[in-house]
Amino acid sequence: MKDERYYQRLYKKAKGIIGDKTPLKKDCGRICSNACCKGDENTGMLLFPHEKTSLDVKESGNVRLAVCDGRCERSDRPLSCMIFPFFPYLTEKGRIKVIPDIRGYEVCPLVRQCNAVKLDRAFLRRVKEVGRLLSEDEQCRAFLYETSREIDSFLNILG
Ligand code: SF4
Ligand code: SF4
Repeated sequence: MKDERYYQRLYKKAKGIIGDKTPLKKDCGRICSNACCKGDENTGMLLFPHEKTSLDVKESGNVRLAVCDGRCERSDRPLSCMIFPFFPYLTEKGRIKVIPDIRGYEVCPLVRQCNAVKLDRAFLRRVKEVGRLLSEDEQCRAFLYETSREIDSFLNILG
């Protein structure tokens, strides 16, 4: 039986894999004035199953969002913040692919211009590694699967 400690260890490991890597080799916040960190009570970052945070949490059904006011302890930020704006997308066939998270299209210039900017490949590899790690756990795999299907539905809307 997996308990809370199992998940906290899992996320510690996942965050350790990302480490200090970010989507670009330079600070991408300088090109958009940290657009993804302009938090308010109407937005939030999706928490993974059983992921703990010191931020306020807004719950709706199975969805838990960490709500910030645009400030946080960097070392304690949710995993979603560390991998944004990419996602370890789980294909219908069960493969992990790292893709720009289309849900961040409005907010993030890297999503809008992902083919035009030089992304840090080490970061992308690490997001994939995190995806593979999390997919070994049943609940996290289900979360990756459901979130990937949600991303599919956004992609379908955009055509
Ligand atoms: S919105 Fe995108 S480009 Fe801007 S800081 Fe966030 S991840 Fe970087
Ligand atoms: S928790 Fe931190 S990193 Fe995440 S959106 Fe808020 S300020 Fe940005």
